[in-house]
Amino acid sequence: MSLKSEAVKQSGIGRWDRSADVVVVGQGIAGACAALEARRGGAEVLIIERASGGGGASAISAGVFYLGGGTDVQKACGYEDSADNMARFLMANTEHPNDELVRLFCNHSVEHFHWLESQGVPFERSGYPGKVFFPPGTECLYSTGNEKVWPYREIAEPVPRGHKAAGAGETGGAVAMHALLAKCAEEGIPALYDSRVTALVVNEAGHVTGVRVRQTTGDLHIEARRGVILATGGLNMNEAMAREHIALLSDTSIPIGIPYNDGIGIVLGQSVGAAVAAMDGVMATAPIYPPEQLIKGIIVNRNGERFVAEDAYHGRTAQFTMEQPGQTAYLIVDAEIFAYPEMTTARHALIDGWETVQEMEKALGMPTGALQKTMAAYNRDAAAGEDNQFHKQGDWIKPLDVGPYAAFDISFTKSAYVYMTLGGLETGIHGEALDAAGRPIQGLYVVGACAAHIPRSGKSYASGLSLAPGSFFGRRAGRHASGAVSL
Ligand SMILES: Cc1cc2nc3c(=O)[nH]c(=O)nc-3n(C[C@H](O)[C@H](O)[C@H](O)COP(=O)(O)OP(=O)(O)OC[C@H]3O[C@@H](n4cnc5c(N)ncnc54)[C@H](O)[C@@H]3O)c2cc1C
Repeated sequence: MSLKSEAVKQSGIGRWDRSADVVVVGQGIAGACAALEARRGGAEVLIIERASGGGGASAISAGVFYLGGGTDVQKACGYEDSADNMARFLMANTEHPNDELVRLFCNHSVEHFHWLESQGVPFERSGYPGKVFFPPGTECLYSTGNEKVWPYREIAEPVPRGHKAAGAGETGGAVAMHALLAKCAEEGIPALYDSRVTALVVNEAGHVTGVRVRQTTGDLHIEARRGVILATGGLNMNEAMAREHIALLSDTSIPIGIPYNDGIGIVLGQSVGAAVAAMDGVMATAPIYPPEQLIKGIIVNRNGERFVAEDAYHGRTAQFTMEQPGQTAYLIVDAEIFAYPEMTTARHALIDGWETVQEMEKALGMPTGALQKTMAAYNRDAAAGEDNQFHKQGDWIKPLDVGPYAAFDISFTKSAYVYMTLGGLETGIHGEALDAAGRPIQGLYVVGACAAHIPRSGKSYASGLSLAPGSFFGRRAGRHASGAVSL
C-alpha cells in the first residue's frame, strides 16, 4: 500500500465544518497524553481517531516505561539513580543522540512517573530480578536495556529503569491505556471515532491550520486554531514503506503493531515539508533468554566468529545479527548450560548436538578451524572469569568445555524476529515538527511513534523507550499547543 497525501489549501475549502483550538490525531498513549495536557492548558481540544475507540498499539503493548533518575519504585527496590546518571547512559548508548531531548527526558523523568501515576497508571513498588523479556506477573522494575553491558556499565552506574504498569505479563499497556482513556473521558475531551485524517490544511503562509477527515458519510474539514498534533503511531504495518526503508526485515521478519500504524503521520508531515530521520531504524527481536543460562553460551556468525556480547539487550543482539553475512547466527552451548529457549514464539530451532567442537563446526559449514579457534580463545578467557573480546559480565561467563555441544539457529532467515520501526518525523523540544533546516513548521506537532525515536537503532533501544518518551513529549506538545507554559 503506497500512502500519499497532499496538503489542502485553506482558501479552497470554503468554510470549516468544525473548529477546536488543538486537534489531536490518534488516541494511543502519545495522543491521549497530548490531549490531556492541552485541555489542562485551557485549550478546546478535539481528538480524531481512525479506530472505533482509543488505545492504539499502546494498548496491546507490554506497558513498560523507561523511567529513572530516582523514581519511587527505584528507591523502594533499593536502587540509587539520578537524572545525570540516566542521561550519561542514554547519551553514551544512543547513536547521534539529541542532547537537548535526552536531557529534558531524563531531568523530568521522576516528575513524569508521578504524573503517570496521578492519571491512574498503576506501578507496583516491586522489582523482578534477572534477565527476562518482561516480568510474568505485575512486578514493576526490571532491567530492560544495555545498562550493564560494556562499555556502558563503566560510563554510568547501571540501574534498572524498565517500569511495567501493573498488568500481568504483557497486559501492562492495556492497563495504562485504560487509565489514560478514562481520564480523557472524565475530563470531557471530545473525540470523533471512525474518523481518519487524510490531509493537513495549510494557509497562504504554509502554516498548518486544520485537517481533512474522512468519515463514512464523506469528508469534513476541521480547523485547529492553535495546532494539530499528529500521534498516529509508527509505520510498522505499511508494507511499501517497510520495503523501501528496511527491505531486509520486510522480507524476513514480522512487524508488530495495529493495522492503522501505516505511517500516515509521517506522510502527512512530509506533505507540509517536515523532515524525517532514522527511517531505516528498527528494533527487532527474538530473544535467546529466558532461561538466563543461555546467556553463558556464545553467539557466532557463519564464519564461526563472535560479534556481540551475549548479555546485550535482545534488540542489540538482533541488530548485530542483522549485520552478519547472510544474517546468519548460531547460539552455541555446552552440556552444562543446555536448555531450550523459553520464548517459543522466537522459533530458535535446535540444529543438533555433537560430541566435539570440530564436528559441530563441520556440520554448520564453517571454515575449518574457525569455531575451534573462537571457542579456544573464549574458554581461555572464561577460565580466568574474563571476556577480553566483548567484555561480557562475569555472571555470564563460564568455559564451554563440557561436551556434547549444541547449536541453535538464531538467523534472521530462520527464526521468527518481530520488529517495530524507530524512524519518523524530526521534532523539537516541544514536539514541534521541524523542516530540513531545523525550523518549526507552524501549527504542527508530532509525538509518539510517528516522530523519530530517541534511540535510532536496535543497538541502543531499551524496552520502554517508546511509551515513556511518547507520553512525555506528548504532554509537552499538548501544553505548548495550548499556549500554556511548558514543563
Ligand atoms: C506487542 C507490542 C509490545 C510493545 N511493548 C512496548 C513496551 O512495553 N514499551 C514500550 O515503550 N513500547 C512498546 N511497544 C511499542 C509501543 O507500543 C508503541 O511504539 C507506542 O504504543 C506508540 O504509541 P503512539 O501513541 O505513538 O501510537 P499508537 O498507540 O499506535 O496510537 C496511534 C493511534 O492513531 C490512530 N490513527 C492512525 N492513523 C490515523 C488517522 N489517519 N487518523 C486518525 N487516527 C489515526 C490509530 O488508530 C491509533 O489509535 C510495543 C509494541 C507492540 C506492538
